Amino acid sequence: MLYDLIIIGGGPAATGAGVYAARKKLNTLVLAKEFGGQSIVSPEIYNWIGVQAISGAELSKNLTEHLKSYEGELLTIHEGVAATAVRAEGDNFNVHTDSGDVYTTRTVLVATGAGRRKLEAAGADTFEHKGFTYCATCDGPLFTGKDVAVVGGGNAGFESAAQLLAYVKSVTLFEYTDSYKADPVTVEKVLSHDSMTGVLNAEVLEITGDALVKGLRYRDRATGDEHALNVEGVFVEVGVLPNTDLVADIVELDQYRHIVVDPRRQRSSLLGIWAAGDCTDGLYEQNNIAVGDAIKAVEDIYVYLKTK
Ligand SMILES: Cc1cc2nc3c(=O)[nH]c(=O)nc-3n(C[C@H](O)[C@H](O)[C@H](O)COP(=O)(O)OP(=O)(O)OC[C@H]3O[C@@H](n4cnc5c(N)ncnc54)[C@H](O)[C@@H]3O)c2cc1C
Repeated sequence: MLYDLIIIGGGPAATGAGVYAARKKLNTLVLAKEFGGQSIVSPEIYNWIGVQAISGAELSKNLTEHLKSYEGELLTIHEGVAATAVRAEGDNFNVHTDSGDVYTTRTVLVATGAGRRKLEAAGADTFEHKGFTYCATCDGPLFTGKDVAVVGGGNAGFESAAQLLAYVKSVTLFEYTDSYKADPVTVEKVLSHDSMTGVLNAEVLEITGDALVKGLRYRDRATGDEHALNVEGVFVEVGVLPNTDLVADIVELDQYRHIVVDPRRQRSSLLGIWAAGDCTDGLYEQNNIAVGDAIKAVEDIYVYLKTK
């Protein structure tokens, strides 16, 4: 069997792409390790357009059910199967899987997303979703009027701090090294805010609290002194880990291992392979963006297949 398209992933990007591919009657296979996507764990999502509030679990269920409603002759879904490698084979591609099966396709859409790099501090796992979170855009408004901390002094950390300053009482940002990694203009602008404090050389050791976060402990790496700070929210931005190993040797990746795409069409550096969502070098990571990028990719895949 030669598929028109193999979609790899099970999050918003993959499910959105699958719906569009099915409606365009492309002979499509979806390989999903799991359905749902990263925000499945969010108690409430307030920015999924068209719905005022929805839990991450409900959103994931809706996306998956929408995709599965098209399952049939032209749309095959293999759930619980991870793609392990994509290899070019003449004009086509062979997609290898952890079940040992190999599938052949004319085009591939990689929508494998990413995982957040976790903060290695005591209490981080215990307090996740109890005041300790990896998404300021999603959870920031829940901390209106409160003192919060951001861990990570790169662009993502500073962007989170800038967003949080709109609602919270104060933000203290901790950077592990002796200099901020974000753009100097952003650093200057955000740190100039009255409610903003930056701490360099800070190793966050522990998140503290009872049922919810009450504070954190950190070590000044320059002096070795330990300090405590009372905060009700801790937002972590210490990097992401894109799931791109399966295509690392055939498409261009950026320095953070995101797939480099042409943002107009979502094409990777190798003709025949597209990518969408958090596995790409797109600047912003959101459900709506992942879906939009995936649909852009399927539109382009369709034109490519029909004009090839
Ligand atoms: C805690 C949290 C809360 C968030 N809240 C919001 C929010 O409120 N609003 C918002 O817009 N965004 C939110 N985000 C961001 C949003 O979840 C992501 O931008 C979005 O999920 C990206 O979708 P994606 O499809 O690209 O990737 P992902 O959601 O990462 O999905 C990737 C999928 O691919 C599958 N997969 C991975 N590797 C393979 C493989 N080799 N083979 C087969 N399948 C594979 C995975 O099992 C997964 O199902 C949140 C993120 C986090 C971490």
